[in-house]
Amino acid sequence: MFENEQRTELGTLGEFGLIQHIASHFKPKRSDTVAGIGDDAAVIQSENRLVLLCTDHMLEGVHFDLSFHPLKHLGYKAVVSCVSDICAMNGKPGQILVNLGTSNRFSLEAIEELYAGIQLACERYGVDLVGGDTSASQRGLMINVTCYGSAKTETITYRKGAKPNDLLVVTGDVGGAYMGLQILEREKKVFLEHPEMQPDLERFDYIVGRQLKPEARVDVIAQLEELKIVPTSMIDVSDGIASELHQLGAHGKVGFNVYENKLPIDPQTVDIALEFGLNPSIAALNGGEDYELLFTVDQGHFDLIKNLPDMTIIGHATEEIGKYNLITATGNSFEIKAQGWEHFKHLSE
Ligand code: ADP
Ligand code: MG
Repeated sequence: MFENEQRTELGTLGEFGLIQHIASHFKPKRSDTVAGIGDDAAVIQSENRLVLLCTDHMLEGVHFDLSFHPLKHLGYKAVVSCVSDICAMNGKPGQILVNLGTSNRFSLEAIEELYAGIQLACERYGVDLVGGDTSASQRGLMINVTCYGSAKTETITYRKGAKPNDLLVVTGDVGGAYMGLQILEREKKVFLEHPEMQPDLERFDYIVGRQLKPEARVDVIAQLEELKIVPTSMIDVSDGIASELHQLGAHGKVGFNVYENKLPIDPQTVDIALEFGLNPSIAALNGGEDYELLFTVDQGHFDLIKNLPDMTIIGHATEEIGKYNLITATGNSFEIKAQGWEHFKHLSE
C-alpha cells in the first residue's frame, strides 16, 4: 500500500497534503459510501436518506490552553466544531459520541464541568450524547467528538459544486475568534509576568466570546431551507476564509474574486487587529474558528440574499481555476494564500 522508501517530513506535505495522501489509498469501495474523505462530513446512503458522519478532536496545548479556556466552554466548543461540519453539508445533527483522554490531574468535578458544556450544547443543538470512550492520557487532555447527522438527497451540499459567476456568501462576521485568542494569549503573558494585575477582558467581550463560545450555524441551515435556497457548494470556516476558499475552489474547479470592503468584520475585531498592528482584512481572511458558513449560490438568488442581515455577499466564483484574488477598494488585486493548510509546517519550524 504505502511504499515510501525514505523518511518524508510531514512538514513537506502540510495537513492538506497528508489527508490527500491518506485518501489516495482509501478510495471507497462500498456502494453505500456516497462520499468518503475530503468533505466536511462523510456521506452514507441509508435506505432513502443520507447519513452524515464527522469527527473532530481538540488537544490541550494545540487547540486549547486550560489557563484561559474554561472546561465548560471547551466541552461546548468541541460539540460546536463537529455540529458545524454537519451544517456545512446542509444537514442536521442527531447524535454525538465523545472520546476523552484524561489524566488524574483532573478531578471528577473538572470532568463534570467539561460535560456541563457538552450537555448545554446537546440541549442547544437538539443532539443526544449516545456513547464514547474514555482512556488515560499521559500528556494533557484530549476531547474528540463524532457527530451523526442526516441530509436530504435533494439539498445535501458538498465542497464541490461552485460554478463560475456563483455568488460567494459568508454568514455572520469573521476574524473575531482569532483576535479573541490574541487577546487571551496577551493577557496570559501579562498575568504570568505581573500576577498582581487582573486581566480586564470586558473591553474585548465580543471577540473573547467568539473564541471561547462559538456557535454552529444551525439557524442559517433552517433559514436556507425556509427560503428554498440550496447552495451550490459549502464549507464551514474553521481554518479561516482564505483556506476554505481554496477548498471550495479546488473541489469546484473554479477561482474566486473577493472584495475586501465587503468582508464582514465586527468593529471590535477591527480595533483589536489595529492595536496588534494587523490589517483587519488579514485577520478576517486567515483567522480560524469562527464556525461561520462560507457558500456559493446561483446569481438568481441575489435579491433574496442581499438584504439578509446575517449573510454577506463577499465575491463571486470565476473561471480562473485556482486563482483567488482579493480586490481592494481602489481596484488593486492580491492573491489570497491559504494559511490554514500549513499546520504541520508551523509545527516543524
Ligand atoms: P474540517 O476542517 O471540516 O474538520 P478537515 O480538514 O479536518 O475538515 O478534514 C478534511 C477531510 O479529511 C474530512 O473528510 C476528514 O474526515 C478527512 N480526514 C482528516 N483527517 C483524516 C485522517 N487522519 N484519516 C482519514 N481521513 C481524514
Ligand atoms: Mg469543516
